[in-house]
Amino acid sequence: MLGNMMDRPLLISDLLTHAETYHTQGEIISRRVEGDIHRYTYPEAAKRSKKLANALTASGVNQGDRIGTLAWNGYRHYEIYFAVSGMGAITHTINPRLFPEQLVYIINHAEDRIIFADLSFLPLLEKIQDQIPSVEKIVVMADADKMPTTSLKNVLCYEAFIADQPDSFEWPAFDDSTAAALCYTSGTTGNPKGVLYSHRSTLLHAFASAMPDSLGIGGVSTVLPVVPMFHVSAWGTPYACTMVGANLVFPGAGMDGASLTELIVNEKANLLLGVPTIWLGLLDYLRQQDIVLESVEQVVIGGSAAPVAMIREFDEVHNAFVIHAWGMTEMSPIGTIGSKTKAMANLSTEARYKVQQKQGRPVFGVELKIVDDAGNEQPKDGEAFGRLLVRGPWIIERYFKTETTALENGWFDTGDVATIDADGYMQIVDRNKDVIKSGGEWISSIELENAAVGHPAVKEACVIGVPHPKWDERPLLLAIKQDGQSVEKSDLLAFLEDKVAKWWLPNDVVFVSELPHTATGKLLKVNLRDEYGNHYHENP
Ligand code: AMP
Repeated sequence: MLGNMMDRPLLISDLLTHAETYHTQGEIISRRVEGDIHRYTYPEAAKRSKKLANALTASGVNQGDRIGTLAWNGYRHYEIYFAVSGMGAITHTINPRLFPEQLVYIINHAEDRIIFADLSFLPLLEKIQDQIPSVEKIVVMADADKMPTTSLKNVLCYEAFIADQPDSFEWPAFDDSTAAALCYTSGTTGNPKGVLYSHRSTLLHAFASAMPDSLGIGGVSTVLPVVPMFHVSAWGTPYACTMVGANLVFPGAGMDGASLTELIVNEKANLLLGVPTIWLGLLDYLRQQDIVLESVEQVVIGGSAAPVAMIREFDEVHNAFVIHAWGMTEMSPIGTIGSKTKAMANLSTEARYKVQQKQGRPVFGVELKIVDDAGNEQPKDGEAFGRLLVRGPWIIERYFKTETTALENGWFDTGDVATIDADGYMQIVDRNKDVIKSGGEWISSIELENAAVGHPAVKEACVIGVPHPKWDERPLLLAIKQDGQSVEKSDLLAFLEDKVAKWWLPNDVVFVSELPHTATGKLLKVNLRDEYGNHYHENP
């Protein structure tokens, strides 16, 4: 017997309609590429989104068409999110940090018809315009008086594009499994793969992520997503904030410590979201300037493991609780979240930091399990390592334009290796391809990196498995020193001794001045493994 309730679709346009009707005081504040701060309310954002939807319709954009963006976090990018998806077309957020060949590949693969671009990214487009034949026009996200001279063809100004359009638009209704947005993974090997989100997956993810024990976003929140809108929709914050009417603060291109501090202080941001590298820069700046953040209550850290030193500094200096979260492009992205619990209140501070170092517990809607290579489920004892498999309504089923499922018996293999403890906390041990296999046992490169950055003279650390004549692979620690600090290899190894098992200790330490990162800020270990491939043969 079926239930008797209405079958109403979950549509992205309804978020905006709700916000313009009920969250009339909620503000969107943006640092523009032009440098100044722009602010307006949800009703004003809705009006401009409708003007844009009219302009796109007049340009012949149809439902299902892909519309690309090459843009920082800002109000025009927000308008594109809602106008494009709202009218039934697909917002394709392009990561400008990809290599030009990868940009060409994904724009052609997506068959983008229009690309909206911030001023900063016009030089990128100038280089590749001849290789992206599906793109009919490029709309520059700038005021008319800021339009640059460019060799690009078919260029329009965003403000001129929407200027004469009516600010009312009837958002169409359609099945909520319709595609809404497209984001490519930044694969370190092979071509990027497209993840095509639906209206339904996006809304369910927004409900789940706003909840008090998820990101805890509400009408009183002022949210600063430093995580980019070009990488998994800024972790879905534009949708979740619109749902609940939170103030949304967009940092634009200003992701350095000084620019972020200015926004946090002026706007009294209480929830920040970003990857660890961003917070390294912010904390450095705050330390140098002797500034204590007053407004920040919670900092969500994900994308890479949050080092304990960072969790401690936010807590002890800024009285801000770090919510360590884990997810991926294929998961919209949220999978697990380490929010505050009653149990934490009874722990010593150090014991709580240990819990916060784990990546958290699944939000309702996400199921997790760890399995061995044969697919046998591993115990949830916090010790057993296994391949991390997930399933849920905002998790990928297949990649864009592929015929075959990406699933293994209904589960998606995340490519991560993890433990799950008796309380359900998941801890990432490594990427499957980065875990170090020494003498038949596994060593977690992430755990070693976390321990190494706990040393006050270490700014960033990277551990890779390097072929070894006797042990198959052994860990090699590459470290960047804090400016003006000195530390020797022996100091660092002695520091690690009581933090990891003895046989995990790296056989060598190399101090470097920089480490390579992927387009999404993760350590690019493939290149380092090549570069240091002979290290233990030459230095046994
Ligand atoms: P992406 O799809 O680019 O967002 O990358 C997703 C991957 O980033 C995951 O599969 C993990 O390997 C890694 N990742 C995300 N969050 C964390 C975290 N909190 N700690 C460690 N690794 C993480």
